[in-house]
Amino acid sequence: MILSSRSKETKASITLKVNEKITQMTQAGKHVYNMTSGQLPFRPAGEFITAISKQLNFLKSYQYSPVAGMPKLRQKFMQYVESKRGINFTGSSDDTQFDCIISNGSKHSIYNVFGALLDPGDEVIILTPYWVSYPEIVKFWGGVPIIVKSHAFDAYTPPIDKIEKTISNRTKAIILNSPNNPAGIHYTDEWMKNFAEFLKDYPELMVVSDELYSELNYFDPKPTYFYQHDPGLLKQTIIIDGISKSLASTGLRIGFCIADARLTAAMATIQSQTTSGPSSLIQNALIEFDFEKMDGFFNPVKEQLRECAQIVMRAFRDANLAHCYYQTNSAFYYLLDFSRMPFFKNMEKEHEEEDLSSYIVDEILEKTGVALVPGSSFGYPNSARMSMTLEVAVFEEAIGKLMAYILDKKLS
Ligand code: PLP
Repeated sequence: MILSSRSKETKASITLKVNEKITQMTQAGKHVYNMTSGQLPFRPAGEFITAISKQLNFLKSYQYSPVAGMPKLRQKFMQYVESKRGINFTGSSDDTQFDCIISNGSKHSIYNVFGALLDPGDEVIILTPYWVSYPEIVKFWGGVPIIVKSHAFDAYTPPIDKIEKTISNRTKAIILNSPNNPAGIHYTDEWMKNFAEFLKDYPELMVVSDELYSELNYFDPKPTYFYQHDPGLLKQTIIIDGISKSLASTGLRIGFCIADARLTAAMATIQSQTTSGPSSLIQNALIEFDFEKMDGFFNPVKEQLRECAQIVMRAFRDANLAHCYYQTNSAFYYLLDFSRMPFFKNMEKEHEEEDLSSYIVDEILEKTGVALVPGSSFGYPNSARMSMTLEVAVFEEAIGKLMAYILDKKLS
């Protein structure tokens, strides 16, 4: 069997490897604090579950959906984004018509966007730390990821002048992911305002704004977006969102994209020849479901995230490692930057590799039972992503173990 070079060049998800190890350890009777999760351990809003159950006997819910999704739901998603962001798609720019296309999860939306946008050799600017699939999707379509680095001491926000320096005549798009997976922060309003100013000099540059975690913020101020500072920039904007995080429904596979109707039409063509439209059953349930009910659903989730974030802050402060800490405020992740920790200098001397993420994550798992995702997969070497989704008491216990590891290393 000779597999395609494209399939060989695509990197497998790192979480698969970590999860294999977790399974082995649990089977061997060891306790694992699984902090690798990319989903919320909550049931979706009750009203949404009821709306799904109402569709179960409805024949149309088992038949093909229109390729781009059900018109009523596409409209509802557009209205939802308009009301949440305080924008208006009609009349925001002179001649652009906007439309919404629904896909099988927002990963699928992003995949279709780049299929519709990129020619081989086109460059896409990606900011670190990034969500694992961005570079892989760009490469899959023949594009070239151009990476711009950020640092923990800037709360993982890359400077705009650094972004500007990477622009070339092949630059097609930039991906913004705010709130960010894996950093657990959103870019400040000031940053978004400056980004809007910067964009005015690059009218051809498209911005893929992945807003999947926009509702998941637990410390003020709330996330804002560059186009709120200048709605004329919407014509350069491709908004990505979905229900995986906001309705804790990763398995139902609904994501959407709002953009210039010429782009969404091209995406629909790709979708028509690949997956067809997404689940009719879930779309019908979403048409029925009152999106206002999401706010109530979020309250306990946000409360838990606030508590967990405070536990992390206290742990770093009590261990006299406050300089290694940064304040998260959204999504449900924390990115540990090992290179800022006192133990790292010694460890660096003992190893030749430039990125020790996997080595450290393996050692932490073996010694403490705390499972993390190595940061190399997020374009941020010598780090690890920690999900704050464990129940508070268990989370606190896991942080205690993690700190014991870090402090023990510090002494050695
Ligand atoms: N974008 C970001 C930033 C994510 O973290 C994820 C999933 O974790 C996705 C997109 C894809 O989500 P889904 O395809 O489940 O909508």
